Amino acid sequence: MGKYQRILLKISGEALMGDLGYGIDPNVTTEIAKEIREAVKSGVEVAIVVGGGNIFRGVAASTKGMDRSTADHMGMLATMINSLAMQDALEKIGVFTRVLSAIEMKEISEPYIRRRAVRHLEKGRVVIFGAGTGNPYFSTDTAAALRANEINAEVIFKATSVDGVYDCDPRTNPCAVRFESLSHMEMLTRELKVMDSTAASLCMDNKIPLVVFSLKTPGNIYRAITGEKIGTYIEG
Ligand code: UDP
Repeated sequence: MGKYQRILLKISGEALMGDLGYGIDPNVTTEIAKEIREAVKSGVEVAIVVGGGNIFRGVAASTKGMDRSTADHMGMLATMINSLAMQDALEKIGVFTRVLSAIEMKEISEPYIRRRAVRHLEKGRVVIFGAGTGNPYFSTDTAAALRANEINAEVIFKATSVDGVYDCDPRTNPCAVRFESLSHMEMLTRELKVMDSTAASLCMDNKIPLVVFSLKTPGNIYRAITGEKIGTYIEG
């Protein structure tokens, strides 16, 4: 049994596309699912928020002239596509799941009801929160911060393509230095862009820690969830 009892895992949409450049790579969802299964087996309650950036991003479409709210609604639908893909991958390997959508889609998922989400977690089911917060102008990082607080998760894990938080972009600057740990305030004031500022301030105000780590190293999700120190720890 690891350090945590209940956690929230945020997976970006981009992570799901693997090397495909668009959409969902079933090998990636299967690998992620296997690690989640191990974490669930070890007794950790796991909730997931999946992004939608591999399919559609509201802001990007709105800069090309689309109405922002409409574009964001499309972005939220993209997160539902990813949520169903994660559900499928998990259920195929024997993990019980429920998708709870912030926008009612009762033919394909349950509506988001906080008490129901908590009950599913208590029963050992993996809960996948779809459709972000249900509101335009927000991100799935904000959805992760919001839901983590609502379900009393102890920590948010943000699985990304980079192995932690750096003082500048390690993809363009070879001298970039990785932080072992820092505070939400430092993250905001140094504009480190780990999360958008709405999500970061929600975490800060409610003292919820965040761990940022790379999804590219196999086993990292399981390691992080079961309490091993990896990536960058942002204090709550
Ligand atoms: N979105 C939204 N409200 C939310 C969450 C998401 O409108 O509460 C929309 C928004 O358009 C966003 C898209 O869904 O661009 C996909 O989510 P996000 O960009 O956070 O996904 P990620 O970057 O994690 O793949």
